[in-house]
Amino acid sequence: PGLSGLEILQRLRNDRALANTPVIVLTASVDPKVRLQALELGASDFLAKPVDPSELALRLRNTLAAKAYQDRLAYYDPVTGLPNRRMFMERLEFACKLARRYDMRGALLHIDMDRFKQINDAFGPRVGDMLLKEIGERLSACIRDSDSIARQGKGESVPSLSRLVGDEFTVLLPNIDHGENAAAVAQRLLCALHDVPFHNGDQEVFLTASIGVAVFPDDGHDQDAVLKNAGAALREAKNGGRRQFKFYSKEFNARAMQRVSLESGLRRALERDELLLHFQPKVDACSQTLQGAEVLVRWQHPERGFVSPMEFIPVAEASGLIVPLGAWVLRAACRQAAAWRDAGLDTVQLSVNVSAIQFRDDGLLLLLLLLLAAYLGDPDFIDMLARTLRETRLAPSALCVELTETVVLDRSTVTTEALARLHELGIKLSIDDFGAGFTSLSLLKSLPFDELKVDKSFVDGIETDANSVAIVAAMIALAHNLGLRVVAEGVETQGQHVFLQAKGCDECQGYLFSRPVDADAFAAILRQARASRPALRAVG
Ligand code: C2E
Ligand code: MG
Ligand code: MG
Repeated sequence: PGLSGLEILQRLRNDRALANTPVIVLTASVDPKVRLQALELGASDFLAKPVDPSELALRLRNTLAAKAYQDRLAYYDPVTGLPNRRMFMERLEFACKLARRYDMRGALLHIDMDRFKQINDAFGPRVGDMLLKEIGERLSACIRDSDSIARQGKGESVPSLSRLVGDEFTVLLPNIDHGENAAAVAQRLLCALHDVPFHNGDQEVFLTASIGVAVFPDDGHDQDAVLKNAGAALREAKNGGRRQFKFYSKEFNARAMQRVSLESGLRRALERDELLLHFQPKVDACSQTLQGAEVLVRWQHPERGFVSPMEFIPVAEASGLIVPLGAWVLRAACRQAAAWRDAGLDTVQLSVNVSAIQFRDDGLLLLLLLLLAAYLGDPDFIDMLARTLRETRLAPSALCVELTETVVLDRSTVTTEALARLHELGIKLSIDDFGAGFTSLSLLKSLPFDELKVDKSFVDGIETDANSVAIVAAMIALAHNLGLRVVAEGVETQGQHVFLQAKGCDECQGYLFSRPVDADAFAAILRQARASRPALRAVG
């Protein structure tokens, strides 16, 4: 307010982010000087008031088409159709700024084809261009597949590929949890290039590449430093024998190596059955009767011994292994539930942790149904499921899916639909680690959750920290208002339990009641629960 149209135009043109925005000036002024001034200030077009709507629509379309054409020339590479160096540098600058401002971490992967000059010399530039185009296509397919690496959320966080110059490409990962996550992407990019030969007519052409990785802000705060250090890492990769990736910092290199070995170990673990399930009881906050159990995966590594899921679940998520791993967990839980049922034990609600990435996989729903069918004592589940669901209205609640907020934040239609379908089937949905991240309360309200698990960090503070006390009490009241059941996780002391009970928390889970135990021990708990409390509320 208070600025004239021309002043606004001038400010737009002086603002780096807005300088190239097309502007159509609408004015009632008939003074030709005003028009001239507007054009000098960079107006794209000019319309006199009163404005005819169809005229305005036409001008807008023309202006935008011209802008798109200019952008293509200025920001894209004509050979590969990818963003060019200019667009890349702007994105990198922006990513560095965001990382500094929001305390985030990103990575730059500088990709250079090995011995591409020889190929170009041997086959000629036309074939060279064609190969570059295919390289670009393979790399961008990888980027699309590896969006699980990037943290979900802001639009600026999406990974992007550009052609820097010649046979050099860059991948920008603006927002990753750990620097070493970039290793998984680098590995995938290399495989996409190395595993399948390229073709020039009938001729097979084998191409390899090297990648240098710089993590920011660790390896540099601004775009120039980051690009320079990725280049230094690239030279290391070349000197180290090509067809490999190297991080700029030794620390990340070491961690990336560790990560790669953990990943291959996990792959082997899945094949060799080194994984097993533990079960942690969930009890009623007042009566302390058994309500159900959370299913927790365990890895017995042949050399390292027990490896914590806190360590290997993130690796599984970053590498895509979470999909077969999650399927294994569901199947194993299903078999276990069926075995307990066949042994005549009560069926209690089992809660299974499901990762965000798994949730985008179509097979998940099928596996959940399988688990459900096992509970229902139904071997031929697909046919029987519908009927059984009709007959026994209680049974689906024997299964609960725990989701963390990354799933919830990703409000793609796929996720929203999958959640709705699970909910319709009667499967319970629980939001795990509540309060530890950024879940907004309005999201909670708009999605069909049944249960909220108060994050352990708040439970920890109940006896020592006034803030935690207030937050936990408020969370319980709020969840109840939204019609959610509240479970406190990580309850370790009597004091915490007494407080939670007083505040009306529904269920508790934690070492105070039981550590996670193996299947045999949990069967014993089931038997004991039945013997000592015949009124135990078993699901179904
Ligand atoms: P979560 O789902 O929040 O699971 C609760 C974690 O807290 C478990 O750790 C459990 O052992 C631990 N815990 C329970 N009570 C207490 C207590 O009183 N004191 C303390 N200090 N800890 C307690 P765990 O088993 O190491 O699992 C860690 C995380 O790994 C889980 O957190 C979950 O996010 C993930 N996870 C475990 N199994 C699976 C799985 O099958 N699939 C997926 N996607 N994630 C899993
Ligand atoms: Mg959980
Ligand atoms: Mg939890």
